[in-house]
Amino acid sequence: MVEKNIIFLGMPGSGKGTISSFLQEKEDIIQVSTGDIFREEIKNKTQLGLEVEKIVSLGAYVPDSITNEIVKNKIAKLEKDNKKFILDGFPRTIEQAKFLDELNFDNYVVIYLDVEKEEVIKRLSQRFFCSKCKRSYNLSNFKSKKHPNCENDDNLLIQRPDDQPSAIEKRLEVYQQQTEPLIDFYKKKNKLFVIEVNNNSIDKIVDKILFIINSK
Ligand code: AMP
Repeated sequence: MVEKNIIFLGMPGSGKGTISSFLQEKEDIIQVSTGDIFREEIKNKTQLGLEVEKIVSLGAYVPDSITNEIVKNKIAKLEKDNKKFILDGFPRTIEQAKFLDELNFDNYVVIYLDVEKEEVIKRLSQRFFCSKCKRSYNLSNFKSKKHPNCENDDNLLIQRPDDQPSAIEKRLEVYQQQTEPLIDFYKKKNKLFVIEVNNNSIDKIVDKILFIINSK
């Protein structure tokens, strides 16, 4: 039984999504990916999807007012169902983190996946994900055994529009300006655990995280 919720911090391509889906498969914990939520809305051409499509494809951030409301509703439902969850891609700004505080969100740890910028540029440009189950793969270090199909459900793997070089550059710039300050924000709150991505396999990272959430 998982005791804590998780907030994942890390550059785009640091492995937040991949590790979240591993944890979700292994443990009784739900992945909440704001990126997946936006992509689904865009795919379904909903009002929200049409509103955020351009922003997401350019690699910019969706306004806090929109993102906060979505996450608030998700959290309310999960807490009502007594579920533990992983915030994968939220918060991404100090304002979003303060919004979480206002919701009295307290039973959590922050896992910062620390990785070199050069490594994420390589990873993002070689990244594929499943059009159905959303599992993420990488041609260099985590290739699907059934490439170009998904190992999990055999559906076709696709690349994200925001994994194009110009959008990657923009996303890393926005990350540095708006999200990096959260590392200090959570360090000061004594919530931050740092995991080096480069020296650890996915299984090892997952084990470390399980140790953290079950022992703190
Ligand atoms: P991700 O899949 O987490 O890399 O997110 C993909 C894109 O969705 C981001 O580049 C943003 O455009 C948008 N997005 C996801 N999460 C957030 C967030 N917390 N705040 C603002 N925009 C977000």
